Amino acid sequence: MKAVVLPGDMTVRLQELPDPVPQSGEVLVRVHASAVCGSDMSALRGDQVVGQKPEHLVPGHEIAGVVEAVGPGATGLKVGDRVAVYLAVGCMRCTFCRQGNLMACANAKIIGFDRWGGDAELVVVPAVNCMPLPDGLGFVEAAVSTDMFGTQFSAQHRLGVSGADTVFVSGLGPMGAAAVAVAKARGARVVAIDPMEHRRELGTRMGADDVLPAIDESVLGSSSRPDVVIECSGNAMAQSAALDAVRSFGRVAFVGESRRAEIDPSNQFLRKLITVIGAWYFPIYQYDAITSFLLDRKVPVLELVSHQLTLDDAPRAFEMLAARSAEKMVFTA
Ligand SMILES: [Zn+2]
Ligand SMILES: [Zn+2]
Repeated sequence: MKAVVLPGDMTVRLQELPDPVPQSGEVLVRVHASAVCGSDMSALRGDQVVGQKPEHLVPGHEIAGVVEAVGPGATGLKVGDRVAVYLAVGCMRCTFCRQGNLMACANAKIIGFDRWGGDAELVVVPAVNCMPLPDGLGFVEAAVSTDMFGTQFSAQHRLGVSGADTVFVSGLGPMGAAAVAVAKARGARVVAIDPMEHRRELGTRMGADDVLPAIDESVLGSSSRPDVVIECSGNAMAQSAALDAVRSFGRVAFVGESRRAEIDPSNQFLRKLITVIGAWYFPIYQYDAITSFLLDRKVPVLELVSHQLTLDDAPRAFEMLAARSAEKMVFTA
């Protein structure tokens, strides 16, 4: 099969690899859509401890396709089934796995980092990781319905975002764009915030009622502070600004990846009695609710996708990722 290989030295190889064979409990999926994610940068740089041999690191963890072969003992799926792939392969015995929170399993292997991912013609995954797709959902929509819309659906469900809320979304990359659309579909008034104009335009296309270049004094000095802030930039100053901006008893979700930020617990947390959650991905049982939500509420899922490419474009795609000159790219076949 043709596959993208990231050796971890910022280069990208398009390589012919042996077709993977499904083992016990696994299925072979023919990939129709595999999205590039900002987190793939760590694989491109090789600065992450991964289970795959670096010379064989096939990235891609936002995957949709069709079951092509069923391994021994794999139940509940048949050849021809359309599926999206859940990114964490859990032990299926620990408390978190039994809850459906496979991403929290201490022994989870992440597809596209710890084992071969979806930037290839074929991928082998456990049958339990395959999430059946409803007819109305295309493969590209399905791929971005996992990490992007799935994470946002789950986070905003936990926060109870509703039509009673004004929601600020900080950072309008693909994750923030999904946040805007999900909050809007839940009925909230949404203010989309990003210093870059083309990203604010994306926020408007995703349904934002208002846009701002930054959370500044005009917000902090006003009486109409947001009920909810969803921080997707991962920028330390923006994270602090999110905590400053939210109203007393408000809710904040940290979704943007970052390593370090300065916080002021007394003023930002205690006195304001706020709730802060961290969020990534979603429990696997939630996927049916996610796809129903996207279809029933007519969420503009495809607006998020800036480039549809083929595997042959992979070197250019990862160049654009490194240069941050593309938003959401999806390999299709
Ligand atoms: Zn991702
Ligand atoms: Zn587990």
